[in-house]
Amino acid sequence: MKTIFDNPLKILEHIRKNNLNEIWSSYSTPKSIDAIRLNAYTPIYEESYVKYLSKKCTRMDKNKVICNGTLQVPEEDIERNVIHTLKCSNPKCRKYKRIIYRWINSKDKHKLHFNTPEKVDEYATQGRAFYGTLSLHDKQVIQPKVQYVNEKLIKACSLGIDIDIKSGNILDLNNREDLQKTIDIVSEELNTFIPNSYNIQTSGNGVQILVHHNLCRVNVFETMAKMNGLIIHLDSIRKEKGITKTKIDPLNTPGRLFKLIGSPHQKYDLVCIPINENLMKMESNEFKLENFNINKYRDDNKKLLFYNKCDVNETKSLYEVLDKNIIKHPEWGERALRYKFKDVVELTTNQKQDFTPEEELEFQNQIDEETDRIFGWKKFNIETPGRVHYKEKENNFIIQIYASDNDKQKILKEFKNKVIDTKLQHNTFNLESEFFKKLVR
Ligand SMILES: [Zn+2]
Repeated sequence: MKTIFDNPLKILEHIRKNNLNEIWSSYSTPKSIDAIRLNAYTPIYEESYVKYLSKKCTRMDKNKVICNGTLQVPEEDIERNVIHTLKCSNPKCRKYKRIIYRWINSKDKHKLHFNTPEKVDEYATQGRAFYGTLSLHDKQVIQPKVQYVNEKLIKACSLGIDIDIKSGNILDLNNREDLQKTIDIVSEELNTFIPNSYNIQTSGNGVQILVHHNLCRVNVFETMAKMNGLIIHLDSIRKEKGITKTKIDPLNTPGRLFKLIGSPHQKYDLVCIPINENLMKMESNEFKLENFNINKYRDDNKKLLFYNKCDVNETKSLYEVLDKNIIKHPEWGERALRYKFKDVVELTTNQKQDFTPEEELEFQNQIDEETDRIFGWKKFNIETPGRVHYKEKENNFIIQIYASDNDKQKILKEFKNKVIDTKLQHNTFNLESEFFKKLVR
């Protein structure tokens, strides 16, 4: 089934009719603080663009055969007239790439920021789904070379809780029932300390809960980390209660994107709406893009009933409860999470982060296990400033290197050297892999 938004002008009309250009620009440029959210979007469907995006898949399989499939917009998305991922055409290859644009354009890598309604209008004919960061940054962050994780520039954060549906979407009543049960778990907990400061919205594929950024303006970085600790705790309650169709992921990191209110979903004709009642009492039609009307979410004084819950008197209990939460979950406590970001923070702020040798040992062990368990990534310890995560897949290594450009080569070399050591000690690396051969050369 084709999307009803098969023409860029329809998206522009949707945005203008519902005043989303003003809503998004004021949400991304809040008056209450001298800081901004950054924005992003998935591109509008265009046949020529589908062709432009398509490229050879260079993934290598177990037998060192290069895939040779084509990395392209999948057929089902072409049929629907949406672009949000690239998938490999070879059914045996599972290469997958999410498409999201965070910059002004392909030539100008300043980060996108909706500072005015006109700026939103400008992108309204280029994008389909629109996003804003949870974190609020000093304006300098838009410079191309500045990293989101630069702690000095993080001024505040909407603490986010992302409840995902594992399969299908919110129109499925079984999914919606589990979503509501998961919201209940989260609300029950939040009501004990910040009952008037969190806001709920859908993303089309699930539900997102946002704690207002005016509560989180001090020690932002570590508070995000502590919030993740609370989320891990909440997700374990979800599991204990046998709720299987959802999951809650610890996603509070600098630069993390949440959908903007009224934004179309990137794939389905669903829309991001505020949730102010029980999901099971809502009509399926209300989640559909075609029925969106911003005026349904205004009170008698025309005030928007979205991201409107904020009681700064609850700030103290937010910080207190998150502090206590560390004791409940030491492996996701403040010090451990600060340690997790240590290298990047030091790199971007030039401020040394101190840990006792006991902490170093403890956190490193925990993090090696945790990153593996949650994200499938392992951390590779390096001496060069920076951070390296890697996965080993089909005799290949996928490496993420966070470091200055000058240090990347050095780190790669270090990785190579330590891979040899690790190989000798633990016998976990495949020296015959093409990737490894390339490194050794
Ligand atoms: Zn492939």
